[in-house]
Amino acid sequence: MRHNMLKNSLRLCLISASIFLLQNTYAHGAHNHGSAKINLGVQQTTATIQMEMPAVSMYGFEHEAKTQNDKKAVSEAVEKLKKNISQIVKLDSALGCTFSPNKIEPFVKDEDGDEDNMKDSKTKNKKIEGEHGDFRAEFNIKCQKDITGSKVTFQFKPFFPNIKQIDAQVLSNSTQSASKITNDKGFLQL
Ligand SMILES: [Zn+2]
Repeated sequence: MRHNMLKNSLRLCLISASIFLLQNTYAHGAHNHGSAKINLGVQQTTATIQMEMPAVSMYGFEHEAKTQNDKKAVSEAVEKLKKNISQIVKLDSALGCTFSPNKIEPFVKDEDGDEDNMKDSKTKNKKIEGEHGDFRAEFNIKCQKDITGSKVTFQFKPFFPNIKQIDAQVLSNSTQSASKITNDKGFLQL
């Protein structure tokens, strides 16, 4: 029993470390408006989900909220995400999963800037202003059944229609896989 617990916590450490590595890879990846990056670390009946979306795609601007209107837009986006997370990231309902928010950071300044955005005429002006930022969120997921092998679908459109593309990755004891999802079509295999 104790041996198993040790083994499990070691696995969890390895998964966390690998997610950290994945995230670092992401940090150097593109900050593309309309694109979300999602990492899922799965441990049988529990999982952690990390999400990173361009702030502009979540609440319409990419700077620290200053005015009352800014702050309202940000808190509405945070509440909307927390309230609807189990609809936005959909696990099979038979698995009995519940989400709890772990860490929500609605504005994390993008220090790297991004060359890709220079090519994108829509975001060119924002690039000249020199500010980009991401909305990051982390949730813990607890399920009644083992979720390994199940499918996850996504439903951003009704809640955050500006997110059109999702780069999703999963890491568990047995698998590591990735999916690109466009307009909520497709799934991620756990
Ligand atoms: Zn941006």
